[in-house]
Amino acid sequence: MPVTLITGGGGFIGSHLVDALLAEGHHVIAVDNFITGRRENLSHLEREPRFELIEQDACEPIVVTAQLDNVLHFASPASPSAVSPVGYLRMPITTLKAGSHATINTLELAREHGARFLLASTSEIYGDPLVTPQPEDYPGNVSPTAPRSCYDEAKRFAEAATMAYRRQYGLETRIARIFNTYGPRMRRDDGRVLPNFICQALCGKPITIYGTGRQTRSFCYVDDLVDGLLRLLKSDYAEPVNLGDPDEITIEQLAREVLELTGSNSELVYEPAPEGDPQRRQPDITRARTVLGWQPRTARRDGLLRTIEFFRSELVLAGQLCPPS
Ligand code: UDP
Repeated sequence: MPVTLITGGGGFIGSHLVDALLAEGHHVIAVDNFITGRRENLSHLEREPRFELIEQDACEPIVVTAQLDNVLHFASPASPSAVSPVGYLRMPITTLKAGSHATINTLELAREHGARFLLASTSEIYGDPLVTPQPEDYPGNVSPTAPRSCYDEAKRFAEAATMAYRRQYGLETRIARIFNTYGPRMRRDDGRVLPNFICQALCGKPITIYGTGRQTRSFCYVDDLVDGLLRLLKSDYAEPVNLGDPDEITIEQLAREVLELTGSNSELVYEPAPEGDPQRRQPDITRARTVLGWQPRTARRDGLLRTIEFFRSELVLAGQLCPPS
């Protein structure tokens, strides 16, 4: 049975990956200190004999007795919001350490075990891109000092470190560049666009569009992303691979779709754009299609409906919404 350790296993993407690895027959060890992850994301696994949780910071030495086959590094604050309690703009140093110290720590762990290493990187390494869509060989347009640099540069360092371990020690490495992803288990309070829009729409509050609303993003449903991650892990491809949905949409259009699917008549309000907010983001997934035979399958409408149902029950549980009669 393959043994796989995943840092950030309590996070939104990490916890879905834990479920998928267990379904594929792995023994899974999740490492999380729950500063941005959620215990609820793993609570259904309490009685699962092939699952273990180590509650700690991924920067600290990780002690495991089992022989590891795979080490997946997903631990990092990942929401850009400065107003959310868990946005990386609120925790710039923790974010830098998750990309630097914790990456070296987990690379060393993989080296000790002769394990395969997979890094969760991000479309943020492209910064505010001047090329659309973004292929993997686009080096990006990134400020080393702007507010978002704590995340962008940490992940760029993490990619460089991963390649260095491959070149110097021959470590088996994989790099996934993850674009905007959504689905159940996102945090309601993480300040990202979909949790905000959906909860605002369900509660009848104004929908907050930052800037003009003409900036774009491309949203991938989490099940599709996890499928791409598993394919990448199993592949023998060491260069970075973009994983995301090429279906690009403006933020204003997204707001209108959320209003329609929730049946809400919340008004749209326009607020100042955050500093350095990328104007366009769309993955070129030619490499993922060719190398992994992967492409997203979930239509945005279906993914949004499932995500809306998730947030509806979260809000009911939190007493912020009456159960549907
Ligand atoms: N955004 C918005 N209203 C919100 C939250 C976000 O208009 O309530 C915008 C944000 O400015 C950005 C886009 O939606 O242009 C996506 O933001 P998010 O924080 O989800 O992720 P990012 O792609 O910026 O990492």
